Amino acid sequence: MSAAVLDHPVNTARLRDFVTALADLLDHTSDEAEILDKGGALLGDLVAHDDWLPEAFAAPSPERYQQYLLHCDSAERFSVVSFVWGPGQGTPIHDHTVWGLVGVLRGQEEAQNFRRRSDGSLAPEGPPHTLHRGEVEALSPAHGDIHQVRNALADGPSISIHVYGANIGAVRRSTFGTDGAAKLFISGYANALVPNLWDRSK
Ligand code: FE
Repeated sequence: MSAAVLDHPVNTARLRDFVTALADLLDHTSDEAEILDKGGALLGDLVAHDDWLPEAFAAPSPERYQQYLLHCDSAERFSVVSFVWGPGQGTPIHDHTVWGLVGVLRGQEEAQNFRRRSDGSLAPEGPPHTLHRGEVEALSPAHGDIHQVRNALADGPSISIHVYGANIGAVRRSTFGTDGAAKLFISGYANALVPNLWDRSK
């Protein structure tokens, strides 16, 4: 990731403060509703500002959407990932198996939730919904966490910041056909290096 030398100076403190506040929240509660509520407010603050994401973690690929790990908690209680969607890019139908928060930093994205029919197949749950810049959505396996997400912009990239209740790139989860058939899915990450949040000399 030699792009680091090309990076504009970024306000790294925002992401550092976010991960510190989230770790503090998780030190004090394991109640998922409270984590999603208070963590969602923290993520809302983070994506309300667009001055902190280094360019190397905002770069789209013509091949597929990118998942850049920005930070993983040392106990793997949570991870923070930038999803960068090029025009026309989106996910297969998938689950997460852990709580999640999605906040849109740039552009906008469209998500479709799914529910299981009694025969195991998947049915759309309501219409697709658009998440606009600055908006935050929560995901919980307790309430159904199967969805499909895509860039809502046809002419430019979108970027969303995702927070999950695990080291999400290592979680064994599933993609689905609409018949409900599951395929094992371990996403990994697009990057080998993570942002340095800890240089306090500047
Ligand atoms: Fe998802």
